[in-house]
Amino acid sequence: MIKTLEDTIEKLKQEVKSEASQIMDSKSLESFRVKYLGEKSFLTNEQKNIKNLSKDERPVHGKLLNELKIYLNEIYDRKKSDIDAVVMEEKLSKEAFDITLPGLMSEMGHEHPLSMVTREIIDIFRGMGFTVVSGPEVETDFYNFTALNTPPEHPARDEQDTFYTKIAPQVLLRSHTSTVQIRAMERLKPPFRVLAHGRVYRNEEINARKMPFFHQLEVLAIEKEFTFGNMKWILNEFIKKFFGKEVKVRFRPDFFPFTEPSAELDSQCPFCEGSGCLTCGNRGWLELLGCGMVDPNVLKAVNINPDEWVGFAAGLGLERFTMLKYKIPDIRYFFTGDLRFLKQF
Ligand SMILES: [Zn+2]
Repeated sequence: MIKTLEDTIEKLKQEVKSEASQIMDSKSLESFRVKYLGEKSFLTNEQKNIKNLSKDERPVHGKLLNELKIYLNEIYDRKKSDIDAVVMEEKLSKEAFDITLPGLMSEMGHEHPLSMVTREIIDIFRGMGFTVVSGPEVETDFYNFTALNTPPEHPARDEQDTFYTKIAPQVLLRSHTSTVQIRAMERLKPPFRVLAHGRVYRNEEINARKMPFFHQLEVLAIEKEFTFGNMKWILNEFIKKFFGKEVKVRFRPDFFPFTEPSAELDSQCPFCEGSGCLTCGNRGWLELLGCGMVDPNVLKAVNINPDEWVGFAAGLGLERFTMLKYKIPDIRYFFTGDLRFLKQF
């Protein structure tokens, strides 16, 4: 019986050897696998049959069949790796490229005009002792309104048309960068001069002048002795450096909940020297920014003694400044990613 099995296996090996030499592709390799290692192969049948053999025969048969299995698997693996190598070589030869062809130049990117102007403004204020601080865009009602002297019933809350989130009832997208002022005042010991800039959100209709999000930059100084006159000087310097020349400015009284007194700063149009042009809408003046002395209530909200410290704050729209500087007629150009627009800078 054992002798018979040994003979059969020996014959099978001869057959396998000659068949293996005929294997040229994955299709014939698969036929080979099914025939010698598959469910209906001699090997599988004999292995299933072991349980019907006598106790003495079982280990000897098992050993012979195991050796056969190893032998078949080795042939199969060797053939498979040969075929895989051929397939890979064919694939690579198809992908081969001519290294003598000239390469394609990738285009150089550059700074977005909005970033350019932001950096420019930061540099001017840095020169006057301001350092950059930052805060989150998702804020709480406290930082966006309450701490800025804007209690729940205050009309400024409607005016700003705030985006509230679904995270929690008091969580919103900041509607101005003044939130960072509060965070800075909580953290820093006066005296200090800080600058914050970033994206703010308001529920506005989209048109040439308005977007539901835009960028603001705010400066805040808390010092021992500081007057409205000091503030005027700082802002004057800023305007002069930004436009690169001396321009007339004027302060008009205005109202903001967090500053008192508050003012709107206008400059004479630097493009027409006040005679009227497209940029200034023939008015000869440009509305540039809002400013004022920090309201004592705001200082109290962050535990800074208003009898000891005074401060000023000013905020501006970065899109507006960029539009003025480069005479861009529509705010939407900033956010379309249109290369025809961006390549001009
Ligand atoms: Zn003008």
